[in-house]
Amino acid sequence: MSERKLECEIVRDLLPLYHDDVVSEVTKAAVSEHLSECADCAVEFLKLRQELPEEKEVTPKKKFMRFMRNQKRMRILSSVLSVILVIGLLTGVYFLQLQFPVFEVPAEEYGAERIYRYETEEEYRYFVIVRAPHYDYMKMDTVGMEDGTLSVRILKPLLSRKSELMTHEAIFVIPGGYEMDGEIIVKREYDRVVCGETVWEAGMNDEVPEYVYEYDWYEQHGGGCTLDVENNLIGFDCADGMFRWWDLDGNELEGIPEE
Ligand SMILES: [Zn+2]
Repeated sequence: MSERKLECEIVRDLLPLYHDDVVSEVTKAAVSEHLSECADCAVEFLKLRQELPEEKEVTPKKKFMRFMRNQKRMRILSSVLSVILVIGLLTGVYFLQLQFPVFEVPAEEYGAERIYRYETEEEYRYFVIVRAPHYDYMKMDTVGMEDGTLSVRILKPLLSRKSELMTHEAIFVIPGGYEMDGEIIVKREYDRVVCGETVWEAGMNDEVPEYVYEYDWYEQHGGGCTLDVENNLIGFDCADGMFRWWDLDGNELEGIPEE
């Protein structure tokens, strides 16, 4: 690199500092001298001045205009933030209320299709297949009665999507035991189950289909199953990849049923 070229390099590195007047007097004089002799660097300096305009004089009018511009920006920003905040809050409230299904689904909207009572080591359980529209976060609630009658009802959150397409979908297992300090201490066997009307009485559906026990086992040990009930068939899609179909009476089907 020639000496001249090197000098130009150094001057160009210094130009921003020279522009801001933060160089020593000696450097300032040297750069000035170079700029007066070197057209290329002088052009560079002009470009730089255009890119970095010096703070111009601020008149009261300009100050006022700038203030108004900032005010407007702040107003827009705070409106946008408010909208985001409100949307966030509403979303939060919606998802929070989904956790509390306390509103009763009208009894005429659903009916219990099958109820089976079966016994485990700890308790009696009631496997209930319900024909009902599907609500997000619906759950079955039980109101046990002393005279051996179990009343069940379906609850949903206040705001819950209702899907008419997904009828005949709800499967509930009602535990029949009393819990104390996390331990089930009393097995409770009901003779009658009421779901709007009496839907089960001791002696009805005494023969419990295999799929009830299979479902129970998968719930307790196998990571769970997704059940699909349609056209009086019940399908299992279980966590370990098991895939089986039965008719509701408990006869297992070979393969996957045709549509
Ligand atoms: Zn130069």
